[in-house]
Amino acid sequence: MKLSEFQQVLDEWAPPAAAWKSDNVGLQVGSRSAEIVNILLALDVTMEVAREAVQRRANLIVTHHPLLFHPLRSLTPNSRAGEIALYLAEQKINLFAAHTNLDSVPGGVNFVLAELFGLKNISILSPLEGSMVKVVVFVPNEHLERVAAAMHGAGAGTFTKYEECSFRTEGVGTFRGTHAAHPFIGVKGILEIVPETKLEMIVPSWKLSGAIRAMLSAHPYEEAAYDIIPLKNRPADAGLGAIGNLPAAMSRETFLAMVKKKTGAEVLRYSGHSGRIQRVAVCGGAGSEFIGDAVQDGADAFVTADVQYHTFQDAEKDILLVDAGHFETESHVLAAIESRLKKFLKASKHPSKVYLTKRNTNPVSYYY
Ligand SMILES: [Zn+2]
Repeated sequence: MKLSEFQQVLDEWAPPAAAWKSDNVGLQVGSRSAEIVNILLALDVTMEVAREAVQRRANLIVTHHPLLFHPLRSLTPNSRAGEIALYLAEQKINLFAAHTNLDSVPGGVNFVLAELFGLKNISILSPLEGSMVKVVVFVPNEHLERVAAAMHGAGAGTFTKYEECSFRTEGVGTFRGTHAAHPFIGVKGILEIVPETKLEMIVPSWKLSGAIRAMLSAHPYEEAAYDIIPLKNRPADAGLGAIGNLPAAMSRETFLAMVKKKTGAEVLRYSGHSGRIQRVAVCGGAGSEFIGDAVQDGADAFVTADVQYHTFQDAEKDILLVDAGHFETESHVLAAIESRLKKFLKASKHPSKVYLTKRNTNPVSYYY
């Protein structure tokens, strides 16, 4: 099976366009046309992980953190990224990263963390503004269902738990074909007045080009009239962090013990809030910038990582702020990637194996 087919599964779940705009996600080393034998999953690629891939005959490594993030000025073994990239290329191992795009979707890093804590009614903490557009197209009535079905098939009109959402208004379209035209309805040179329907659908920006292509191929007109309208709506299904409720309120100490146990963190750093904890926000990795969203959304606690001294200080009046470690809050997503890829391989009856790395890739150690 080609790497491009795995990429399609991952991109469908965590579209590259949902990533932070300065991020570097997707294929980092290798070729989309490479034939994949086995797959190895790790939060980061290290030399140990790369060697493990060779041992396991895995020629695709999928990581959360991109190896190539800052532009490389040379590809030599003198830098960490250069050494690993060179080794991967020599061993013909492909490297694929799903980073902030995987942070931003249901089922990704933050939903996995929220589920790990047993939260209910999980939703996105900070929805991604500007990721939705509206497509409005004018269709002769008898072709309406065909055009609508083509657009739905390309992912338009899906909103949270609803599919095939559209709005339709009947009206009248007019046009006169010039001598160069080949009108589907009527005769060139004569003004045509046609009953048409204005069909409106929302679509995530990363599915827009596919939806437009599908609409144009199903539309009977030589020149279909359509509008693409950017929306300011903050969608419920893309964005950073997650928030939900514990089934029952618990004391701060019970909550901290639960977080430590579930994440596997050796130690937690925290400040603030000695009351009962029920509403909980999370953001795997460095999520301090979302403390305000968590407070505003009524969270009693916010679990994240890479929190600075003064951030603890500023937050202590408003919320229980917990730093459970970067690796510890993100690594649980690997099991979710594993199950998604295994499901895909099973459905396509492909014999490739998916492995979770056995190497510890957490660069941070703790000394007691
Ligand atoms: Zn991270």
